[in-house]
Amino acid sequence: MMGRTHLALGAVAGVQLAAQTPGLGLPIMAAALFGAILPDVDTPYSKLGRRLWPLSRLVLQVFGHRGGTHSAAFVLLATALMWLVSPPVALALGAGILTHLAADAISYGHGTRFTARGAGVPLLWPLSDRKTGLRLVKVNGALENLVILPWMALYAAQIGWALI
Ligand SMILES: [Zn+2]
Repeated sequence: MMGRTHLALGAVAGVQLAAQTPGLGLPIMAAALFGAILPDVDTPYSKLGRRLWPLSRLVLQVFGHRGGTHSAAFVLLATALMWLVSPPVALALGAGILTHLAADAISYGHGTRFTARGAGVPLLWPLSDRKTGLRLVKVNGALENLVILPWMALYAAQIGWALI
């Protein structure tokens, strides 16, 4: 899916976790939002990839788009590294990444510069490159932009508003 939809999904995860961890709301929210777009550091055309383009070009060369950064191993590695800093923030980072993988697992693209080709994510990478997923939502299509994005953004805002 597009970066804005990933951010809305990450916001939903972030506000849920922030609601349960008073005092750490901001870092938890930031970690969930960052996690939600982190897997797309594997393409220089993503929100994060544009800002980190020397790194994103390298990751794209090595793993390909929707490669290793879209796997369970990546979720575990990123969460474990952040765990050394702060366990609650690590859980938010992991949750954010999971929302990204779930969204990409049910979306498909036509392989333009901005969207992945085909559907699914390689959950079992590096054991297998086989992609797992369903062709339910077209990347940047009407369902994503007119239903999922506004619905998730409003849902996150509603929960977030209650926290303030
Ligand atoms: Zn992705």
